[in-house]
Amino acid sequence: MAEVLVLADHAGGRLRKATAELLTLARRLGEPSAVHVGPGADTAQKTYAKYGAHKVYVVDDADAGSYLVAPQAEVLAQLIEKVSPAAVLIPSNAAGKEIAARLAIKSGSGLITDAVDVRAGDDGAPETTQSVFAGSYTVTAKVTTGTPIICVKPNSAAIEASPEAGAVESVDVTISDAAKAAKITDAQPKKATGRPELTEAAIVVSGGRGTGGDFSPVEEFADSLGAAVGASRAAVDAGWYPHSNQVGQTGKQVSPQLYVAAGISGAIQHRAGMQTSKTIVAVNKDEEAPIFELVDFGVVGDLFSVLPQATAEVKKRKG
Ligand code: FAD
Repeated sequence: MAEVLVLADHAGGRLRKATAELLTLARRLGEPSAVHVGPGADTAQKTYAKYGAHKVYVVDDADAGSYLVAPQAEVLAQLIEKVSPAAVLIPSNAAGKEIAARLAIKSGSGLITDAVDVRAGDDGAPETTQSVFAGSYTVTAKVTTGTPIICVKPNSAAIEASPEAGAVESVDVTISDAAKAAKITDAQPKKATGRPELTEAAIVVSGGRGTGGDFSPVEEFADSLGAAVGASRAAVDAGWYPHSNQVGQTGKQVSPQLYVAAGISGAIQHRAGMQTSKTIVAVNKDEEAPIFELVDFGVVGDLFSVLPQATAEVKKRKG
């Protein structure tokens, strides 16, 4: 069975959820092999095995984490040469998409970004469901040139464990000086909120201009559900919420199980970041608001009245 390379998304060996999702999806296409660049492979080993990695390629360059994305693209390009994988799966986040684009050029391969599903097509080759043109269309796509390189949005697959022996193989790769040209000199951790990371969260509650700058009902509802908080660009531009929480074309792309939009009209640029969410709920006091065209459930009402009631109900049910 052909190998499927999965680029691990980790911080010093602490794997992000997207890696387990990609390993789960990779099993549909062949035998998953995790690619771990940087330190911490020992810490991550158990998790790789738990989610079905037959092999873990480790580039244990203590320095690798200090550089931007270029070394990871070089590692993957050299592994493509070495093992001719059936596909390479990479998280569809800002760094992942840049790595994938560099890799596609280096290996002369086709690239699919923002996939929300990956499976083996009738001919056995990877087939994806993909969001294109800023989320305006969802299409079925296939790579027809080179090795399929596929960026998959976080939350696209339910994680399933499938323990494998997970042999570790150290890979000898050469990282060029050019790939090390830009070095990270300082990194400030984000202020801890206790909430999940926006792109990884199973539930996202977002607020827009309709909040008038008061995000407390949005945050309280999010906290009752253990959700992340998102914001429309109007709310971010007004300085009501940090840019790192912006959802949309020029913000983050999210694909949670549940997305709640409160006081958000549903502009195309906002939809681009959330319309692949599995279930969409909107609270808006204007029944003509465009957001209601794409929701599964809509509540016409004032968010300052609806959200506190929903929060109280969730808390009551949780006991
Ligand atoms: P509005 O469109 O003003 O809507 C506010 C809504 O709140 C209205 O529907 C109103 O009925 C409702 N409301 C008001 N009060 C209440 C209340 N008390 N209770 C319930 N509902 C209430 N936007 C993004 O979000 N993300 C992006 O990444 C993004 N990128 C962009 C990129 C470009 C190049 C451009 C040109 C625009 C981009 N935009 C983006 C902006 C986008 O076009 C919209 O302007 C923006 O999404 C509007 O935000 P909003 O829905 O919060 O505000």
